[in-house]
Amino acid sequence: MNCPCNHLRNYEECCGNIHRSIFNAQTAEELMRSRYSAFVLDKMDYLKLSHAKSTVHTFNFKSVSKWTKTVNWIKLEILFSTHGKKNDSTGFVEFKAYYEENSILNHIHGKSRFIKQDQHWVYLDEL
Ligand SMILES: [Zn+2]
Repeated sequence: MNCPCNHLRNYEECCGNIHRSIFNAQTAEELMRSRYSAFVLDKMDYLKLSHAKSTVHTFNFKSVSKWTKTVNWIKLEILFSTHGKKNDSTGFVEFKAYYEENSILNHIHGKSRFIKQDQHWVYLDEL
């Protein structure tokens, strides 16, 4: 199977590797990609695991899970990413996630902040 985050890569070698162990996300961008793929594949347990404990209560897993099943995810585009390297404790990733809903092409434009928590990257919030 091709990876949802990048159709040129194999899922098992790309986000699949991070879904198996979140510690395999070396950078904030890799974690961001793995979360996009988790949206596409409806992996709510992983979305919970990769969400900072301090903000996870703001995320409605039930409604997201319901919604993501009704849309056709097209692609992920990383526009900008800074910090978020192996030895950083914070990182930022700006992205566009394209999807089709009711035959209309739409996208989410996010500027996400990531932090290290329990020695691995997690999503914190939007800027
Ligand atoms: Zn991937």
